[in-house]
Amino acid sequence: MISILSGGTGTPKLIQGIVQIIDPEYINVIVNTVENTYISGNYIAPDIDTVMYTLAGMINEETWYGIHNDTFITHETLKKIGYNEILRIGDKDRAFKIQKTLLMDKYPFSKVVDIQRKNLGIKSKIIPMSDDQSDIKIITDNREMSFHKFLVEEKGNPEVEDIIYNEVIPSTNLISTIESSDMVIIGPSNPITSIGPIISIEGVKKALKKAYVVAISPIIGDRPVSGPAAKFMNAKGFEVSCTGVATIYHEFLDRFIIDTIDEGSKKKIEKLISEVMTTNTNMKTMDDKVMLARSVLGEIL
Ligand code: GDP
Repeated sequence: MISILSGGTGTPKLIQGIVQIIDPEYINVIVNTVENTYISGNYIAPDIDTVMYTLAGMINEETWYGIHNDTFITHETLKKIGYNEILRIGDKDRAFKIQKTLLMDKYPFSKVVDIQRKNLGIKSKIIPMSDDQSDIKIITDNREMSFHKFLVEEKGNPEVEDIIYNEVIPSTNLISTIESSDMVIIGPSNPITSIGPIISIEGVKKALKKAYVVAISPIIGDRPVSGPAAKFMNAKGFEVSCTGVATIYHEFLDRFIIDTIDEGSKKKIEKLISEVMTTNTNMKTMDDKVMLARSVLGEIL
């Protein structure tokens, strides 16, 4: 059994490679929920949905958000009648969000996600990090805004001074899943706003220290492949490099995978983490994803 800690862009690409070589039944994906919110009355769990649509083979790979070939009639209509639809939600995608919202009257969030993944025929388990409502705030030059306002409305432009999220209780199976895994993979996701919220939950670091943990750097050279990780790492005082990522994860990491172009950082990181591997970590094609998955899984195969 392996467990993968995931956000909503980099790690899902790796998951596409991993499911090509491991039986999906042996995979748990533990997912960040800090960006969850309500939009036009519906519960939105961006990273959960991206992982769910990836595993169901229906993700929109252009945006890593929503369902491919979706339509946006409801979204456009809601905007016309005065709703502030901060995210562009497709019609099919919205159906899953409506179902989530309705099921949440009866069940905790992790059960709701389990019902949906089973309905979609997904064999892997999808485990939200928490059933609690999380709250994340981006502190910019004298303003405070939601994650989605920062990223979508403000297009990630403001200078970031800090990132704050509330403490949440782990979902029922979170700690036991980590502890019983043969390998835990920290995917190439944003270390501050995707992986950070998961590892800051009480008990998670302790469980990771007991497990065999492999991480893949989301930073190649001096920049992330996509998204605002650089600004967030800077705000938290970490160097924007694979070495900076190593500084965040080193206390519970057994193996760290960095890109070939970062070979020069290997020696420095080896002072923090016993095993450091270099390979191509930029996943542009399915071959890239499968090759990286093989390097990550290593002896477990
Ligand atoms: P978010 O929820 O959309 O922020 O998604 P994630 O946190 O999962 O992913 C964002 C991170 O994934 C960014 O820091 C990217 O640098 C990283 N990322 C995206 N694609 C790749 C890739 O192909 N290779 C690597 N190494 N990192 C990637």
